Amino acid sequence: KPRDAKDVMELCKKYDVRFIRLWFVDILGQLKSFAIHVDELEGAFEEGMGFDGSSIKGFARIDESDMVAVPDPSTFTLLPWRPKEKAVARMFCDILNPDGTPYQGDPRYALKRALEKMKKMGFTHFYLGPELEFFYFKSDRCPEILDEGGYFDYPMDAAEDLRRDTILALESMGIRVEYSHHEVAPSQHEIDLRFADALEMADIVMTYKVTVKEIARKYGLHATFMPKPIFGENGSGMHTHQSLFIGDKNAFFDPNDKYHLSETAKQYTAGLLKHIKEITLVLNQWINSYKRLVPGYEAPVYICWARRNRSALIRVPMYKPGKEKATRIELRSPDPACNPYLAFATMLTAGLKGIENKYQLPEPVERDVYHMDPEERKALSIEELPGSLIEAIEYAEKSEVLREALGDHIFNQLITSKKMEWDDYRIRVTEYEIAKYLPIL
Ligand code: GLU
Ligand code: MG
Ligand code: MG
Repeated sequence: KPRDAKDVMELCKKYDVRFIRLWFVDILGQLKSFAIHVDELEGAFEEGMGFDGSSIKGFARIDESDMVAVPDPSTFTLLPWRPKEKAVARMFCDILNPDGTPYQGDPRYALKRALEKMKKMGFTHFYLGPELEFFYFKSDRCPEILDEGGYFDYPMDAAEDLRRDTILALESMGIRVEYSHHEVAPSQHEIDLRFADALEMADIVMTYKVTVKEIARKYGLHATFMPKPIFGENGSGMHTHQSLFIGDKNAFFDPNDKYHLSETAKQYTAGLLKHIKEITLVLNQWINSYKRLVPGYEAPVYICWARRNRSALIRVPMYKPGKEKATRIELRSPDPACNPYLAFATMLTAGLKGIENKYQLPEPVERDVYHMDPEERKALSIEELPGSLIEAIEYAEKSEVLREALGDHIFNQLITSKKMEWDDYRIRVTEYEIAKYLPIL
């Protein structure tokens, strides 16, 4: 792994790199990329590369649009799907204002700020293990599946070569993969990453999504992280395993607790449970996200935690009970179409609120919550996630925790952009309405 500009220059010589793509994301997590010639590299490290921010979603207004992208040398890697000769590399960038201060609209900066707060509270690492699910379709025009396979199915699996090529490409970029398999829905797959620190992991998630799509494209296929592409089938989640460490000590672990969870882990989990409705707009940011968060498809709806029960929002995995390094909690609501920088920043901020204010963790709910009747849930005070984008916007808009996690700029831009999206959607007449109402009304 390169440490500084000098290392990067040497790697460029060694691998015949001609083009370097500079990557960053807009507030909705869309990847933005521009290429510079290798001869520009020194200048890029010294002064950054200027660009017009006014056309980037959620970035500057027309009257203050000059931005500077400064590459982070530690993120340098070759792009394995590009040619080996006159090769192409990429680096993630931090976005600065022309005066050199961090740009408040940069999602990477929002995550860095949340991590600073964590450090002030005495933790050194926020480790994350996201499980991104996705579908392969024949094209990006309609969700036409490639196989009828289900969970762990083999050989009813049209994607073994696709997954293999994807994992090898990730590996060549230094990204470690732990598991991969066919998922529950037809043509749905999962490739699980080894845990890493939050900022690195957010960069990895972006790289993972591009890699999955690029490899699919080589096969003439379309890979999608759309949360719910097919009605009646499981959607795609991004369950996120998380823990806080102090040096190499897991602050979530207590060997003497009956769940092996420390007070810190319980307060963190309580923070997530208490603030989840407010941060759902970030974890599930599209209209389509809410078609996934319905009962019966292994996606969470009800706000509770459990050790085993997969209908709960937060699960404490018990694969290796009592093993310090493996002790963690799993948040199951995020979907892979989120902006990982903002998703990680908001989860962390909500969890830290729980620690700061010593929230009490309610009892776990080990029964299947999907099948409880509403009175039972009420008796147990189990609430529900927002049921639609507009509900999520309403919780988000009033949230101090969300504003703190995103900063004023991103908070305001996100709310405005999501309200416009909702308005655009709600005036449409859908196929459902035509089929249901036209014959009878
Ligand atoms: N696809 C499910 C979801 O939407 C999760 C299935 C699983 O447990 O991996 O979250
Ligand atoms: Mg899965
Ligand atoms: Mg999981």
